[in-house]
Amino acid sequence: MSIDAEQLVSWYRDAQRDLPWRRPGVTAWQILVSEFMLQQTPVARVEPIWLAWIDRWPTPSATAAAGSAEVLRAWGKLGYPRRAKRLHECAVVIAGEYDDEVPTDVETLLTLPGIGAYTARAVACFAYSASVPVVDTNVRRVVTRVLRGQADAPARARDLDDVAALLPDDATAPTFSAALMELGAVVCTARAPQCGCCPLTHCRWRSAGYPEGTMTRKVQRYAGTDRQVRGKLLDVLRDSSSPVTRAQLDVAWLTDTAQRDRALDSLLVDGLVEQTLDGRFALAGEGEIP
Ligand code: SF4
Repeated sequence: MSIDAEQLVSWYRDAQRDLPWRRPGVTAWQILVSEFMLQQTPVARVEPIWLAWIDRWPTPSATAAAGSAEVLRAWGKLGYPRRAKRLHECAVVIAGEYDDEVPTDVETLLTLPGIGAYTARAVACFAYSASVPVVDTNVRRVVTRVLRGQADAPARARDLDDVAALLPDDATAPTFSAALMELGAVVCTARAPQCGCCPLTHCRWRSAGYPEGTMTRKVQRYAGTDRQVRGKLLDVLRDSSSPVTRAQLDVAWLTDTAQRDRALDSLLVDGLVEQTLDGRFALAGEGEIP
């Protein structure tokens, strides 16, 4: 069994979401920015930040010219702020070494800061219409259900090859990749697949009567985690135009002082926060490292 490319592509042409990074005129860099932001963050939260970001820094060189602290502030509450730092580093490399143009091939994209196997292929496919497999959680889930008849499956080394084998051998391959991902995001979702709206006629999981999955889904807790504490500390620094004292940071998290210290240490190690010569704290680029 395979996936009917015509069924999937024709569904996508009618049903795809109108996302700003899919509109005509969006550059490869702007698509790359969207892919950084969409890692681990839902579309609805990314959309306003992406629009403001692109308006302010439309090119790699514009982003590279911004200060690290400006970039961290503009990242706002998207979470996982190391992505902002890596995006800034990526902009610096593209502006300096690639004449402000995002490289087109997967191998070169993989050498850039913050770009892994998924993002390299997503940029090559969505920005340059390359016929490459793009495998994220959504794609893996659809393929597992349709072809293997299972609800879910962990990532495997051969996923890329399996999805590559599904790509149509013509110019619709990039659209097929986007459509597979869209189907997993909006129809074949993890918790509530809407098989009544699915464009695919054949699906082994549906035919088998939806056998239960074997994977236990981790519920991503946020409250009380180190991630939350890091976010609280960064909020204090984002809201201040000058370095703050340790006492000003400390009040951001009084629940567990050891956790707060650990979170602050990790921000310093990640290079998201700096300490000034007089012992105060600032966003990266706004302090003088002793
Ligand atoms: S038929 Fe249902 S389970 Fe199968 S791919 Fe479509 S939405 Fe997913």
